[in-house]
Amino acid sequence: MLLFTPGPTPVPEFVRQAMATPTLHHRTPEFEAIFKEARERLLSLLGMDECVMVASSGTGAMQACMINLCEKKALTINAGKFGERFGKIADAMGTEKIELCYEWDTPATVADVEKVLHENKDIDAIFIQVCESAGGLRHPVEAIAKRAKEINPQIMIIADGITAVGVEKIDVSHIDALVTGSQKALMLPPGLAMIGLSNKAVEKIGKGKDYYFNLAIEIKNQQKNTTAWTAATTLIIGLNAIFDEIDKEGIDALYEVTAKRAKATQAALEAIGFAMYPKIPALCMSTVLDEDAEAIRKLLKTKYGVNIAGGQDHLKGKIFRINQMGLIPVYESAWVVNAIELALDELGRRAFDGAANRMFNETYFKA
Ligand SMILES: *Cc1c(COP(=O)(O)O)cnc(C)c1O
Repeated sequence: MLLFTPGPTPVPEFVRQAMATPTLHHRTPEFEAIFKEARERLLSLLGMDECVMVASSGTGAMQACMINLCEKKALTINAGKFGERFGKIADAMGTEKIELCYEWDTPATVADVEKVLHENKDIDAIFIQVCESAGGLRHPVEAIAKRAKEINPQIMIIADGITAVGVEKIDVSHIDALVTGSQKALMLPPGLAMIGLSNKAVEKIGKGKDYYFNLAIEIKNQQKNTTAWTAATTLIIGLNAIFDEIDKEGIDALYEVTAKRAKATQAALEAIGFAMYPKIPALCMSTVLDEDAEAIRKLLKTKYGVNIAGGQDHLKGKIFRINQMGLIPVYESAWVVNAIELALDELGRRAFDGAANRMFNETYFKA
């Protein structure tokens, strides 16, 4: 079965092999050398001044940012499940918040954020997804961050890049925290969260807050290539293995093929009559609005060996989402659009003529 859900993504054989080596103790020179290597490569991937790796799912890192980087009031951008999660974290932490809500196909705008910031001078941190995975949209996070900093240079911009880091180059000039997780574009098992930080963010963290997620304690330890608590040793070994593979062609090559695959998939789906759900589609996944979404997913799973994701909440049964993150062989993506075209034929909607595959190949290889 091809796993084509936008997280978790498949863990490649070479990563599984790397992680099958005997357990290392985390307080040893051997592991510190591995940690140092992973940390340097992560800093380069994120393009930020500082970074920390924590043993948790992505949500833990989102919460760590809320606790350590927001002192007064948060602005949370909710255009889907993950933006909504930032709001729920604020509520759980007792952090005052303003929430900007959008339909799940609609990205936030600079103008809306500007208005809220003018009306709420006490907002000291903005929480937003780079890609909101619920509807597969791309927020204009760089533009929002830039404008927010013009209005208030002290404001913290926390970007959840869990489905953007490793997918595309993110301009982090005005971003203070960039969150990612192991089980998306980095193709590792779940359980490792990573946060890139600006120097300004490190300054604001100061002595840090919280116990497990005290970022000041983590930074102090991780600068010495160790962690405050037991490190996710196996996952960090896997992280170096995935970096080894990415480095063979270089990260820019991965960005390029990811964008090409996403564009080819979109063109193929449009060629057989589908419409993309989000107004601005992200590159991490291809999201289609379709009344037969569940029937198509079921046929893919039972007949064609492909597992794609559906929608959640009010989009349950209305959309399907195809992963584009990670090192995906192009013939697998071509098979997915082909399988979808076969499913349409089976549902009596459109006779199969190979249009999806033809368009995929034309767009991918002739672009
Ligand atoms: C997957 C994902 C998360 C992380 O969720 P966890 O289940 O806690 O790892 C956060 N934000 C976005 C945008 C995601 O896609």
